[in-house]
Amino acid sequence: MNKPNQAARYSNTKAAIKQNLSVNYIKSAINTLDFYRHELHNAPLKKHGWNDGGLCPFHSDNKPGSFRVNLITGAFKCFACGAAGSDVIAFAMALYGLEFVEALAKLVDDWGL
Ligand SMILES: [Zn+2]
Repeated sequence: MNKPNQAARYSNTKAAIKQNLSVNYIKSAINTLDFYRHELHNAPLKKHGWNDGGLCPFHSDNKPGSFRVNLITGAFKCFACGAAGSDVIAFAMALYGLEFVEALAKLVDDWGL
């Protein structure tokens, strides 16, 4: 009977914790309002919480009003095409077609973190 490989488990856990810490760091270091002002050129962003995100960048939108972004959490949702995510990382993944780690790398690059 094989013993579970504790050393490998532990190193996976450490990697997961490290990644989680850097994810939290990246999310906290990026101002959500600045992020969405940069990504959504047409959005009339000004309030806290859920905002009108202007034209949806995930479908060919010509009628503002369906796309919303949350300036506290970074979440986004389009009520027309269904695009949605919980934070700026999910937004970068969806908009630029990136894997999770690639999206982190793009955010670090774009925001000089
Ligand atoms: Zn949409």
